Amino acid sequence: MSEGSWLCPTELDRSRVVDANDRVRTIRMVGSGAVGAALLISAPWIGWWTLILFALSALNLMSVDRRLRTSAHPERVSADAIVITELLLAGGVVMSGGPHSPALPWMVLPAAMVAARFRPRVVIAGLVGTVFMILVATVGVNPQATVNNPVPVIATLALLAGVVSIVWALQAAELHHRDEAILDPLTGLLNRHALMPRFIELSHQARLTHQPVSMVLCDVDGFKAINDEYGHDRGDAVLRDVAYELRKRLRSFELVYRLGGEEFLIVLPGVDSKGGLEVAERLREAVEQTRPMGITITISAGLSSGCGEEVEYDTLFRAADAALYDAKRAGRNQVVAADAVVIELPAEPALKSGEQFSPSLAS
Ligand code: GH3
Ligand code: MG
Ligand code: MG
Repeated sequence: MSEGSWLCPTELDRSRVVDANDRVRTIRMVGSGAVGAALLISAPWIGWWTLILFALSALNLMSVDRRLRTSAHPERVSADAIVITELLLAGGVVMSGGPHSPALPWMVLPAAMVAARFRPRVVIAGLVGTVFMILVATVGVNPQATVNNPVPVIATLALLAGVVSIVWALQAAELHHRDEAILDPLTGLLNRHALMPRFIELSHQARLTHQPVSMVLCDVDGFKAINDEYGHDRGDAVLRDVAYELRKRLRSFELVYRLGGEEFLIVLPGVDSKGGLEVAERLREAVEQTRPMGITITISAGLSSGCGEEVEYDTLFRAADAALYDAKRAGRNQVVAADAVVIELPAEPALKSGEQFSPSLAS
């Protein structure tokens, strides 16, 4: 249910932008310091005005961290800062000789910043935009001088291709490792990748033992408004607290996954719909009472349960999702059980809090 954008189609992409920004902070400072030192040394030849452009660029980059922390759309803050840097550099190139400007190679840096943060389609757009800006600042400003000596422009374009390819390759490797990971980096909970293999085991076991399995799909209510009001960083902290609270309230064999965004899935092996309702209600109350950082947070939950053959992921998930939708429509901050697959074990009652589940189903 998270809101995607062209820059970041998923919340994972968005958290990568914030993450990448944190990780390159020191390197960015060192890089900016090196460019500043080079400008200072070269100023007598290029002109002291270049330092003004550099100061503007430094101010822009220095304020990024603060703006990222408070914005609900950190990817836009990051992209805007990169475009501003490129425009300042293009201005500097135009003012210092166009096609023969010594600052021309620096126009490659913003494209590398894009490649270190965004998905391929944004990197390609950044690359095309950078080539366009380089051509405007050189051929566009002084076509004759470019024709007389095109070597600096050609060398800069080649440098652009080389640097972006290297950063892109490193980024793709990092993405691959992230996609393979089974832990959600924000909350430390298991993620979607860990869910399927475990659920397949559970459905095999349920078929053999005729044990029930319940599924509780939780979604934080009005979370977008929390991000909008308090910023993305505090939104993240809220998610961590909610995750901690859910994990704390569950028994060791009960499984909790962060599916993405503000959605959590709890799998309760050996628990029928009656027991599942009790667990879900307990979790709902616990989150409501937590008030992370003084903010009132509530969750809505949809419950589905199955027994034996009915323990099938798609069926249970669809039922839980429909029940969650009903909980949202009914006003949020409540638990709704799916009618279709609600079952109760007549013989064996649901496990009570503190009881241990049969080791055959425990993880
Ligand atoms: P509803 O009660 O209907 O669930 O409303 P909602 O605002 O919670 O739902 P919606 O799907 O409109 O918004 C979810 C928001 O959660 C949008 C997205 O930016 C935010 N979000 C998703 N993942 C993360 C995350 O990892 N960190 C932060 N800070 N925000 C996230
Ligand atoms: Mg959601
Ligand atoms: Mg929500």
